[in-house]
Amino acid sequence: MLKELGIETGVSGAFDGTWLKTTGEVLDSTSPINLEKIGSINTATDTDYEKVITASVETFKRWRTVPAPKRGEIVRQMGEAMRHKKKELGALITWEMGKISAEGEGEVQEAIDIADFAVGLSRQLYGLTMHSERPGHRMYEQWHPLGPVGVISAFNFPMAVWAWNSMLGAVCGDTIIWKPSEQVPFSAIAINSVCSKVAADHGFPGLFTLLIDKSGEHGKKLATDSRVPLVSATGSCRMGRSVAEVVAKRFGRAILELGGNNAVVVLNDADLNLVVPSILFGAVGTAGQRCTTVRRILVEPKIKDELIKKLINGYSQVKIGDPRQKGILMGPLINNTAIELYKDTIAKVKSLGGKILCGGNLKKDMPSPLFVEPTIVEVDKNCPLLKEEVFAPIVYVVTVTGGIDEALEVHNDVPQGLSSAIFTKDLQKAEQFLSAAGSDCGIANVNIGTSGAEIGGAFGGEKETGGGRESGSDSWRQYMRRQTCTINYSNDVPLAQGISFLL
Ligand code: NAD
Repeated sequence: MLKELGIETGVSGAFDGTWLKTTGEVLDSTSPINLEKIGSINTATDTDYEKVITASVETFKRWRTVPAPKRGEIVRQMGEAMRHKKKELGALITWEMGKISAEGEGEVQEAIDIADFAVGLSRQLYGLTMHSERPGHRMYEQWHPLGPVGVISAFNFPMAVWAWNSMLGAVCGDTIIWKPSEQVPFSAIAINSVCSKVAADHGFPGLFTLLIDKSGEHGKKLATDSRVPLVSATGSCRMGRSVAEVVAKRFGRAILELGGNNAVVVLNDADLNLVVPSILFGAVGTAGQRCTTVRRILVEPKIKDELIKKLINGYSQVKIGDPRQKGILMGPLINNTAIELYKDTIAKVKSLGGKILCGGNLKKDMPSPLFVEPTIVEVDKNCPLLKEEVFAPIVYVVTVTGGIDEALEVHNDVPQGLSSAIFTKDLQKAEQFLSAAGSDCGIANVNIGTSGAEIGGAFGGEKETGGGRESGSDSWRQYMRRQTCTINYSNDVPLAQGISFLL
């Protein structure tokens, strides 16, 4: 498959427009599906790091002068290149990360969609004009390219998160330095190669550079590096806290896309025909390894038993196994650490008096030991586990007796603030959920689940989720610097605020 993507020979752990001869520690990539080895690679050394940053800085000096619509045309061709390789790229995501084929290809589609979105943006990137208080003066603002952008990404979206940053960054006139997750290096190499070929054909081989490491050390360097004005970091809250502190110290900018702890509120009047499939996709999809995965169900008493019955029935029909096979809806977890976390959480649930309603065990007779049963647990609203994001298919059911007010209180009482949803037919309660006193998350939905966002909206969350926004809407502004310009076309030099400063 690597061969079909043109990346069989010569690739390495660092790309500065060409593949460098890296000599860093060897990183093996194995498929979580069956522990088959995908490949080995030497990680990037400090010398490689310098080469990559230099290439990105130098390419930026040329790329920023290309008119934005022309940059857009090159990004359009990247979208086309990804379209041609959609199946292979999607299959590689599935092989290396373990999500099912439909989701693997869906992720590549997301990368294509954001490329299309960026092409349109390349003819916009609008600034405002303002009326000057001084006669014979004109004021306006314009947006300039920012510089090399560091992208640190998580394992669970090995291609799409890079594309969100890179397609927007590229039309904005920035270059990209990517530090992907050490769990999925070949997915990164593959999509970077497909898009870099297009960039190279237009004379910009260093537009998208790449650094592969073993435990985040090059990510840490990007955070400290003042040649990188913006670091976009996607991953755990622990990683984000470290990056945020370091970047802030040097007055750099950070976009932080961190952990979620997403809840679905189910009111008594909810339509279970909408609720059940939404929770199933949200809690079981990607084996519970999405930042937007449903982690908590806050349900009113009257509808609770029926909801649980239907969910257990749905869970019992989820086919678990090799995610490349048709009909399979849930693949493996990413690695042993995730398995340990799953086991540890189930043990904690039991010790804290939680009730396992279904699942709770490792899945036997699978092609690797990384498969688990999707799990539903009932806990009290004060259970401390409700505050943590556990990156596995475990969802907590909590009964709320105090109506929408109590549901909102429990809903917002967690450190994270990414995605949220309410199911109800009551317009007033739906609007209350969306109001300023409602959900405190960056994403709030009515009668659809918490995961599976479209690229057109700004994506991200509040509180410990980091406050960043990526993808659609006006997220592009973060990849540019704003300049306010005043032009005097009169023969006088009047001062603002009517100040007189005459000799
Ligand atoms: P992780 O934090 O372990 O790793 C993410 C990336 O950060 C990796 O590339 C890693 O090498 C790097 N890294 C680790 N420590 C670092 C440091 N101190 N400085 C710089 N870089 C460092 O996360 P993961 O296990 O790969 O992904 C799962 C997490 O990502 C979950 O918490 C999930 O919610 C989150 N996530 C969030 C979003 C979002 O948009 N909010 C999207 C996807 C994943």
